[in-house]
Amino acid sequence: MQVRGWVSALLPRSLFLAAAAALALSAAAALALSPAAAQVTSPEEHLGFKPGADFHLLTYEEALSYFERLAGESDRMLVLDMGETSEGRRMKYGVISSAENLRRLDRYREINRRISLPQGLEDAEARLLAEEGKAIVWIDGGLHGTEVAPAQLLPQLAYDLVTGEDRQTVAIRENVIALLVFANPDGMTIVSDWYMKNVGTPYETSPIPWLYHKYVGHDNNRDSFMGNLVETRNMNRAHSLEWFPEILYNQHQTGPFPARIWIPPDAEPTNPNVHPLIVRWKSLIGTAMGKAFDENGQPGAISRIRYDTWYPGYATQVVDGHNVASILTETQLYRYATPQHFTVNDFPEEHRDLTKGVFYPSPWLGGWWRLGDAVAYNATACMAVLDVAARYRFELLYDKYKVGREVMERFRGEPPYGYIVPREQPDRSSTALLVERMLGNGIEVYSAEDAFEHNGIRYPAGTFILPTSQPFGLFLKNIFERQSYPDLRKYSHIWQGLVNPEDWEGAPLRPYDGVGWTLPIQMGVKYWEMTSLLTVPVTKVDSVDLEGGVAGGGGSYLFEHADNRSVSAAMALLQAGATVRWADAPFAAGGRSYDAGTYVVETGRMPAGRLREIARETGVRLTSGSAPGSTTALQLPRIGLHTGWVASMDAGWITYIFDEYGIPFERVTNAGIRSGHLADRFDVLILADQDAAQILEGHRIGTVPPDYVGGIGDEGVLALKAFVREGGRLVCNNSSCDIPIEHFALPVVDVLDGVPADSFNCPGALLRADFDTRHPLAYGMPERDMVFFSRGRVFEVREEAGGEEASAPAREPVVVEPVARYPDEPLLLSGWMIGDERIRGKAAALDVSYGEGKIFLFGFNTHNRAQARSTMRLLFNALLYR
Ligand SMILES: [Zn+2]
Repeated sequence: MQVRGWVSALLPRSLFLAAAAALALSAAAALALSPAAAQVTSPEEHLGFKPGADFHLLTYEEALSYFERLAGESDRMLVLDMGETSEGRRMKYGVISSAENLRRLDRYREINRRISLPQGLEDAEARLLAEEGKAIVWIDGGLHGTEVAPAQLLPQLAYDLVTGEDRQTVAIRENVIALLVFANPDGMTIVSDWYMKNVGTPYETSPIPWLYHKYVGHDNNRDSFMGNLVETRNMNRAHSLEWFPEILYNQHQTGPFPARIWIPPDAEPTNPNVHPLIVRWKSLIGTAMGKAFDENGQPGAISRIRYDTWYPGYATQVVDGHNVASILTETQLYRYATPQHFTVNDFPEEHRDLTKGVFYPSPWLGGWWRLGDAVAYNATACMAVLDVAARYRFELLYDKYKVGREVMERFRGEPPYGYIVPREQPDRSSTALLVERMLGNGIEVYSAEDAFEHNGIRYPAGTFILPTSQPFGLFLKNIFERQSYPDLRKYSHIWQGLVNPEDWEGAPLRPYDGVGWTLPIQMGVKYWEMTSLLTVPVTKVDSVDLEGGVAGGGGSYLFEHADNRSVSAAMALLQAGATVRWADAPFAAGGRSYDAGTYVVETGRMPAGRLREIARETGVRLTSGSAPGSTTALQLPRIGLHTGWVASMDAGWITYIFDEYGIPFERVTNAGIRSGHLADRFDVLILADQDAAQILEGHRIGTVPPDYVGGIGDEGVLALKAFVREGGRLVCNNSSCDIPIEHFALPVVDVLDGVPADSFNCPGALLRADFDTRHPLAYGMPERDMVFFSRGRVFEVREEAGGEEASAPAREPVVVEPVARYPDEPLLLSGWMIGDERIRGKAAALDVSYGEGKIFLFGFNTHNRAQARSTMRLLFNALLYR
């Protein structure tokens, strides 16, 4: 999942001899062929090379054309479609089982649905269903586009499963329905195109200078509970609403070196919202994989380090709370399809003596490592998963029923009994989005038919109720409760150093990803925990309609700022030629009070029907009303988003958000920044959350084709300075704040600069923060809210300027206004942190006036993976505020 490599030798195609050694194929991949196989085309015949061959990468289109041919030639395979991708491809997948099972597919799907959603299902009937049913196993490849081996394997795996007549494969076809899923079709083709273009050139193994997905690249495996990306939603729907698999196997290719593949059991800590039986199944399957590797003479399988299961945004962990045994593997990373050679001297010191362990009993000794090897390891792992499913078919089905029943029973008798979410909230659109995303994850949501009272609070009819007493109740609890990450420094002996051992030695152990995510808090949606069962009539919710509209007539309307969709309406109205303003102060109109920042629209000569259309499209409610005394007119901003050649996931998330909210913008390359005259082209420039060095310096000469070398450089910094001086607004997020702090001689310091990890640490948690809601950057925010803090910047304003220009004679006049602060009290809302006293009372966001323009410094990521819908408003305000 993260790139760590020790490259000792690469064998580029230009040096490669055709007589290279044959691929080391596993025993599992070398299956005996049936007579029927003679009529079935092999991948090699269809494609002209064997998937996994050196110097070849299949595109999605090639792989899919083989899938469709195979399905056409065999009655043991179907190809189905789960929806469109971000780039408009169809997301197709294979279904493989015996011909007889495929004829009864609807029945088997129904059995799986029934045992997975066991409301009203008695034990005896569940046993009969488990006896009759087939285990459904989801295997995907290619989620991370550059981790090429798993997706390259899928055509060969399909062929082997369809044609194999050995005992193991026959048993798999009889007992299992296998779903073979290309998890990121766009990325598979993007990466293949890049590699195949560079094969035989000096840039054969160059990193790809853009994301392997229209929006976010690698973060596609952090999106699963939120489901922002259409591919995530397609997969969530397929597994959690349609197929209900017993096992989901999500394959990756970033093994901890020098191990050849990482397999479960997982690293610590274990998420407490996973049923113990599911944890056991995961370990059992991982151990069966390990056994298969050593049976096949494939050394180097390692377990129980690095990859923990704490964060539920992974494609694997999202289904743990759906009572699915999710399996992650990480085969050793490979430079696309170019062979590499390693010796023991290339290994990290602790592995040079080839020490064996319970979780690493057959160390890899070094040697050549090819794409074909990685593909063969993945083939062994897939066959081991399917073999477990075939052998334990009944137990897997019955345990899924049992776990679902236990979860429902547990939350009938203990809190949290569920969550109450009022429908009418300041941010109505984010409230609706939260409910929709929970529905997309298979969660049952109800709407109260009558008003009701709970713990002294009266809730109106229409309030959403999400009970935990449902089969996927643990998933719901995991997403809604506040996380309490265990302090792994305490009682360290019980972990035996097996938690990210590279970070041990007394310092806090770094989790693999964020430690706190409580989604309603990130989204700014108010909710209450049910401390007892409710008795109120309810109806089931299928979808949420925002019901935007226009009340009253005349030429002047008001709408509120706190709804995130207000920015969509404002942009659309400005584009349509309306006059749009912000109220400068709170005011009252028509018997209602309005906050500062309320939008005031004068439709002018805009066609009458357009206003209603915009209200309907955005879900915003406009009320006729006149402008208060003091307002500020808005202009449609010309927005530029810096997009360099070190691909930035955060720039991808901003792109995603702008598309979702209908915000027009333009990408600006490094050369575009360097060429200057930026104020002629843009009103606002955004530097996403990316290391300053990546923005400034980019790729080094020789590592990528010449067109993609370098960053914005000194020239770009000067151009940005001139842009702000001439009246432009520069928006910096988290890491990119370092650029103005270091290079613009601002009287601002980051108080965390140089602070050691054991003194302050907050690796992705939700913290309390206070917002100055009279300041236009914080319009629409509550006075007390949260920020998502991950390796953030925290500001202190100094009398004297810092940075490299501190002693320069003529400095810009600078005025600094704090917009958000950490309160002087315990800060942690959800997750884990140490050292919060270091940042209490300090500024989290600043509005810096510089020359004629402004620099907005957000010391946290305002929009965290398009999950932090609450603070996302600060980013929106930064686009319009002048
Ligand atoms: Zn990965």
